[in-house]
Amino acid sequence: MLNYPAVLQIIRVAEILARRGWAEANAGNLSIHIDPMSMPQLQTIFDEAQMKDPFPDLEGNFFLVTATGSRARDAARIPEETIGLFEIIGGGKSLRCHWGRVPPTSEFPAHLSVYNVCAKDRQYIKAILHTHPPNIIAMSHLPEMQEPGVLNATLRMMHPELGILLPDGLSTLEYRIPGSIELGSATSEALRNCNVAVWPMHGVVSIADDLERALDQVEMVEKAAMIYLLVRSTGGEPVGLTDEQIRSSREYWGVTGDLP
Ligand SMILES: [Zn+2]
Repeated sequence: MLNYPAVLQIIRVAEILARRGWAEANAGNLSIHIDPMSMPQLQTIFDEAQMKDPFPDLEGNFFLVTATGSRARDAARIPEETIGLFEIIGGGKSLRCHWGRVPPTSEFPAHLSVYNVCAKDRQYIKAILHTHPPNIIAMSHLPEMQEPGVLNATLRMMHPELGILLPDGLSTLEYRIPGSIELGSATSEALRNCNVAVWPMHGVVSIADDLERALDQVEMVEKAAMIYLLVRSTGGEPVGLTDEQIRSSREYWGVTGDLP
């Protein structure tokens, strides 16, 4: 299992999050929706952990996910104590662990809720990353960023490549309790039409076809947030890219559609 590419990818990305200070203590969580046919021979080591909310459409699906209470900085040192491999069984009501540490992150219902929504029309979504990048979180504390759409519109003005890497922009939720069912369902709704959601005053969730791409997206948003705060720290207001400048960059790189 330790040489399996998806396990190596979780370890690598978890280490990066820890090194950047985006995963303090046991913060952050990662998952990958995997094809069981690509795995080595699987054993069952723990069966029938019940979930509060069932996901019947995900029965038979396999996920690698970081464990509850685990530290991103430990992923490389003790991977089997940090990551687990789970199969959804029992009509979507239970988890079967095939490898590693149980139970999965308390945010796993939020991850499953997103995979469940994406299974219908965005099956290419195979990875979810939740982390705590400080500049995005700091921006989400600003009173003027509380209005819907303002954070998205502000960030896209700060980095000409944001609108290309994230053609559908990002969404912002209302504050909800970490690990709650409400946070999970609100996140899956927020990610119906885009790949990054900001949990205000908490962190960010990024979804993509793989974890490296999910990390790319967070890096881009975090850089835009850092630039915004750097300009504001001088006492000035950012000029920002105009909508026309953003549109022409997008068109040049083949991104079609209105600005999100
Ligand atoms: Zn968090």
